Amino acid sequence: MKLDSRRWALVAGVALVVAAGVFALIRAGFFAAPDLASLWTWSLDNWETAGVGLSGEPVRVAHEPLALIRNLALITVSFIGVLLGTPRLVEIVTRSGRGGGAVGEDFVKMRRLIDGELGTILSLVRAHLDSNKTYSAALVKGHRDLAATSSPDQIRAAIVLLIAENQKMLRETEEHQRRLEDSQRLITQLRAELAETQELNVRDSLTQVFTRGHFDETLAREAKAAAAADRALSLIMADIDHFKKINDGHGHLIGDEVLKNFARTMSKHVEEKDTVARYGGEEFAIIMPSVSFIEAKATAERIRAEFETKKWAIKGGAPIGRITASFGVAQLAPRESAESLIQRADAKLYVSKSRGRNLVTVDADLSSR
Ligand code: GH3
Ligand code: MG
Ligand code: MG
Repeated sequence: MKLDSRRWALVAGVALVVAAGVFALIRAGFFAAPDLASLWTWSLDNWETAGVGLSGEPVRVAHEPLALIRNLALITVSFIGVLLGTPRLVEIVTRSGRGGGAVGEDFVKMRRLIDGELGTILSLVRAHLDSNKTYSAALVKGHRDLAATSSPDQIRAAIVLLIAENQKMLRETEEHQRRLEDSQRLITQLRAELAETQELNVRDSLTQVFTRGHFDETLAREAKAAAAADRALSLIMADIDHFKKINDGHGHLIGDEVLKNFARTMSKHVEEKDTVARYGGEEFAIIMPSVSFIEAKATAERIRAEFETKKWAIKGGAPIGRITASFGVAQLAPRESAESLIQRADAKLYVSKSRGRNLVTVDADLSSR
């Protein structure tokens, strides 16, 4: 996260009060610093040598009561500044370290822009209504003038006035329409950017499948919906076999490519309503609403079979050989929590691992929990 001008001002402010505090301490005689102290001339006459510092320089003490009050006030202000500023600074530093603030800030910025545009639209509508009122008033006046006049010149003048008012109204309407269209365009663009930012929050940056956070939310929601509607819900947990060896033998970049490829393979075999997510490291999960464990097993089997047949090789290098993955499948049982479903699918994944890997194992137990 970049420090914006407000934060720079805050950092500068805190630095300033710390500097003022140190200077005040020097002035109060806490440090022996004759050169610095002499920069400030208001109380030189009231200073006296109270002893000698470590390197033999005179240590001076002020006796002027006003000066002491001022110094004490400066010290107090410095400490308050440091006390107030430090937590904010720590927050800024930790947020910039985590790099997590940017997306949130984008949200706030875009929300503010959208709010601003909505405000513009409201004032345009109000301006249009005001123009309408003025126009109606001009029409009423024109009508009254026409009724009260008899000479052709007066009639002509009233008509000219009405035509002028009408043209003014047309011009204003066109201007309002143009500005409304501009606002509409801007809002459409902002909405697209907002959707993109939201998407950034829920997609894993390496594999482009959903994040663990999104997975947790989706599974909790889908489990509730499935229970309420008495619908099936299945979960596949998948883990790439001996992935550490791939990293160790061919490097992390190749490992990353394998992860991306596995994510793509899984996504290819599921439907729009299913949620493919990176559960952590080289472990993935697929939430399948309205799908029984039998159908989920078939999907996992298709993914397993396609993945094991891929030919892996580094350009110009030695072939990597076969890469496989293990799977565990479970279907939500009546009154079961999302956590329990994950546990059952994960337990079956580890059965696949312990039985030799490159396998799909299913928990077919649907008894109430
Ligand atoms: P098993 O068959 O039992 O699953 O063995 P494994 O080697 O696949 O499992 P292990 O848990 O021992 O190793 C997983 C490795 O995945 C360790 C970790 O460094 C690596 N890893 C986790 N995330 C990433 C990533 O984003 N990129 C790469 N290249 N490696 C990752
Ligand atoms: Mg693994
Ligand atoms: Mg693992």
